[in-house]
Amino acid sequence: FQKLKRGLSRSSSALTDGITSIFTKRKLDASMLEELEDILIQADLGVDTAMAITDRLSDGRYNKEISPEEVRAVLSEEVEKVLTPVAEPLNLDRGKKPHVVLMVGVNGTGKTTTIGKLSQKLSAEGKTVMLAAGDTFRAAAVEQLRIWGERTGAEVIARDTGADAAGLAFDAMKEATEKGVDVLLIDTAGRLQNKAELMEELKKVIRVIKKHDPDAPHDVLLTLDATTGQNALNQVEIFGNVAGVTGLVMTKLDGTARGGILVAIAAKYGLPVHFIGVGEGVGDLEPFSAKDFANAIAG
Ligand code: GDP
Repeated sequence: FQKLKRGLSRSSSALTDGITSIFTKRKLDASMLEELEDILIQADLGVDTAMAITDRLSDGRYNKEISPEEVRAVLSEEVEKVLTPVAEPLNLDRGKKPHVVLMVGVNGTGKTTTIGKLSQKLSAEGKTVMLAAGDTFRAAAVEQLRIWGERTGAEVIARDTGADAAGLAFDAMKEATEKGVDVLLIDTAGRLQNKAELMEELKKVIRVIKKHDPDAPHDVLLTLDATTGQNALNQVEIFGNVAGVTGLVMTKLDGTARGGILVAIAAKYGLPVHFIGVGEGVGDLEPFSAKDFANAIAG
């Protein structure tokens, strides 16, 4: 929580400084509410949530003096209200063997790192884990996954750069099934600049996985980089349509985060948020808590 708070405090400081400058020793009026709505929207919270917050403030407090602390409390409560329904732990104990998790997302958003962190968590819980280096396009991605595999004691299925990702997924499913592995984590490519090709590849990977198990992949996790702001909404839309995203992981909330976008995404899509990334280290993956996140945003 401390790392999340530190990370988000940079973006939320614009928000809390704004709130402090608007609500200092003045009676609540329409122009203050308008200013507040603007800074909430600039913080990427989304129009609906911004309006819910200003509506609640105008209700009963209009023309009365109101402190920045009261405004922040309302902000925190309303954000928590939006995030609570989506704060869902990832459940890998659904009787599937292997439980197949497909990790999707734009390059650089933290897919491979999140797989490494998850692998560590699951190994520590006593589960056997296999990793599939499905980003066959980039040699660095394959190498990075190998390192994570060594570090976390997970077997890594990889092929040469340029190999067919669907073929690799097929092999990984076969190996994981034969070896009785508990969880198979499959990495994928995320070259959004070549969208049509990437989307075809993802669809093919999913088709091949289903040949082994029609219910798989059991989870399709989308990694979103918290520093990208509004762009994350498009990514949810695109990967949701192509890959049937079942849950989200928001990464880089330790940096110059603009985590407000998670609130807009939760309000619009209602997709479960399973984890947040708060650093590059193996232990820097935390279960998502609506309350902690809301508190961090409200400063
Ligand atoms: P991929 O291309 O989606 O597989 O992304 P990577 O896993 O390679 O991550 C891209 C970069 O982001 C790497 O330098 C990671 O160390 C870094 N990264 C991933 N998650 C986090 C996080 O939660 N916080 C920070 N600060 N960096 C992260």
